[in-house]
Amino acid sequence: MENILAVVAHPDDLEIMAGGTVLKYKSLGAKIHVLVITNGSWISEKGQTMRSINEAKLEFENVSKFMQYDSYEMLNEKTLHIEYKDDLVCEILKRIDFYKIDTIITCWEKDTNHDHFIVSQLAKIAGKKVPRILMGQINYYMNDFLPRNNPCPSSRTSPASPPS
Ligand SMILES: [Zn+2]
Repeated sequence: MENILAVVAHPDDLEIMAGGTVLKYKSLGAKIHVLVITNGSWISEKGQTMRSINEAKLEFENVSKFMQYDSYEMLNEKTLHIEYKDDLVCEILKRIDFYKIDTIITCWEKDTNHDHFIVSQLAKIAGKKVPRILMGQINYYMNDFLPRNNPCPSSRTSPASPPS
């Protein structure tokens, strides 16, 4: 793996999902390019701004410098409203060609977060000629993580404290 493109929905997705993996590949000489599809802002269901676009940009820039990414960009899609559309596939394709990407890291395709799910679809379509697409877990609420008829089998997990 020489040229890695991370395609994620939100500014903190990559570090939560694969921060250690990225640092390992970076230490082995890989170039790391990051494309965040949303502008990173987040507005609550009550309409309160929890994170502004400027705050998201600043946080993204700080973590990208800390992680020493070779490039990092944020598009301007609205959080929780990413749509599957061809121009987003083209945005990913442009970076695949420009950076000669041989590996994509993206969200797990069965993540139930709307944005994560759509981004994984976009990355898969854009990356159909890329030799490796690695998907990672961001949240625990993935579709197939636990069986639907037995969502919390005692042999696999036990709650730290009883539900209140
Ligand atoms: Zn996310």
